[in-house]
Amino acid sequence: MAVKDPVCGMTIEESDAVGTSEFGGKAYYFCSNDCKEEFDSNPEDYAD
Ligand SMILES: [Zn+2]
Repeated sequence: MAVKDPVCGMTIEESDAVGTSEFGGKAYYFCSNDCKEEFDSNPEDYAD
């Protein structure tokens, strides 16, 4: 399933995601640990 990395906007395959985070009951997928760390620092800036 294709998902969007909310930090960099890249579309990635869920199975290729390097990291995942949950916020507000939703799962988010990231292309890199840098994107995950950025999301985890400011989740409210990136969450839907
Ligand atoms: Zn990314």
